Amino acid sequence: MSVTAATSPSVGSFHPSCRRSTRLAALPRFRMSVRSAAVSVTPLVTELRKDCTTPLPLLRHVADAMAADMRAGLAVEGGSDLKMILSYVDSLPTGNEKGLFYALDLGGTNFRVLRVQLGGKEERVIATEFDQVPIPKDLMFGTSEELFDFIASGLAQFAQNEGNKFHLPTGTKREIGFTFSFPVKQTAVDSGILIKWTKGFSVSGTAGRDVVACLNEAMERLGLDMRVSALVNDTVGTLAGARYWDDDVMVAVILGTGTNACYVERVDAIPKLQDHASSGSTIINTEWGAFSKGLPLTEFDRDMDAASINPGEQIFEKTISGMYLGEIVRRVLLKMAEADALFGDSILEKLSTPFVLGTPDLCAMQQDTSDDLQDVGSILYNVAGVESNPSARKIVVEVCDTIVKRGGRLAGAGIVGILQKMEEDSKGVIFGKRTVVAMDGGLYENYPQYRTYLSEAVTELLGDDSAKNVVIEHSKDGSGIGAALLAAANSKYHSHDS
Ligand code: ADP
Ligand code: MG
Repeated sequence: MSVTAATSPSVGSFHPSCRRSTRLAALPRFRMSVRSAAVSVTPLVTELRKDCTTPLPLLRHVADAMAADMRAGLAVEGGSDLKMILSYVDSLPTGNEKGLFYALDLGGTNFRVLRVQLGGKEERVIATEFDQVPIPKDLMFGTSEELFDFIASGLAQFAQNEGNKFHLPTGTKREIGFTFSFPVKQTAVDSGILIKWTKGFSVSGTAGRDVVACLNEAMERLGLDMRVSALVNDTVGTLAGARYWDDDVMVAVILGTGTNACYVERVDAIPKLQDHASSGSTIINTEWGAFSKGLPLTEFDRDMDAASINPGEQIFEKTISGMYLGEIVRRVLLKMAEADALFGDSILEKLSTPFVLGTPDLCAMQQDTSDDLQDVGSILYNVAGVESNPSARKIVVEVCDTIVKRGGRLAGAGIVGILQKMEEDSKGVIFGKRTVVAMDGGLYENYPQYRTYLSEAVTELLGDDSAKNVVIEHSKDGSGIGAALLAAANSKYHSHDS
């Protein structure tokens, strides 16, 4: 892993833009030998558009159902699709945090490491360094030890190259905020049990175990002397990171490989939390990926779900998040190719391969503004192995747009559901003042059309008056700094002022 230095508070984008320029550059020019099939395919596109439509009443129904599910999940354990998990984070960063802290982030696609030197209210973020590697595919299906050994050795390598801008007070250990973006039943701020893997992971031996213990054991195997001070969900890290700069942040949403959301909740609005003082607030991790009510689903969604590692689960996630949008489109295109020869007599072997088409490919195709959609043609050829004429490419773009529009608008409805629930509990707390929703994740960050559809849906649902108080903002620091800040806030060495 190479170390990337960034001294500004903003860590910068981890993601390349959606254009895969290396791929495109290597392209052959096309033989335009494909029969036009546009006319016969049109009914399928029309049908898809109809099935995926998200008019305002449908969005309103989804937002209401989200709010109702949140309430049910807060009332009793297991009361709803939404787990509404207590984060055990009840103090958010204040800006006073000081010292050297590390963050680890295990997402669905990437593994990230970061260190930050915090200088308190005046100096804030003095220096940060980060690195990221893709998670090797085989580790997604291996053993718990293999996965955690990979994490620990990445961390060890990164820790070895600590530059001279970073200073650890004597007598303390390097402390870690561990961002773990899978459903965890938190048992304390620094421990939690994996409920189940999602996002295509099927690692044996982790479910039911404390993931901090798994990491500690791997660090011990390597002789790495660091300690986990905070275990945080990526949404919670994002909320904490955004709150460090802006007191109005109340909700955080991740749209990356998977999706999830968290928000600031009043302790007295959590009936299932009986043995706690009834004042103050805490962060609730909704695990909204498991939401399932009122979604406009198609045969393609149902087939993809049935073929997944977790059939019947994470339906909202499968409809709106990065891991799945490309796969849904692939299934639609395959049907159009088989039933209506959308790609002439192209061989469909590659297009028949699950997950061969990624959401970044959809994004790249949607940025093509040329008349004959050359980039779309190139991507279809290189990624899916099919030849296409301009009218077929136009249909492909329409399919991408249909699936991405549905995803973005439903994500927007989910956000409104959360805001609505908060507003219902105390009038004016959300819509009566500025409220910020911090967004992060590769899908949100890189897909402009998705972002636009999401914010349009939010505005449609809220109406102009309420919408003008709601700021939906990309949180550039991501969850990394947030996790490090939560490690600082929960430091065993009190290395921060309070
Ligand atoms: P994680 O934390 O789960 O590893 P990230 O937040 O890094 O995920 O997001 C990675 C995901 O974002 C990818 O799996 C992909 O679905 C999506 N993504 C990445 N780049 C793009 C892009 N250019 N356009 C659309 N989606 C993208
Ligand atoms: Mg992530």
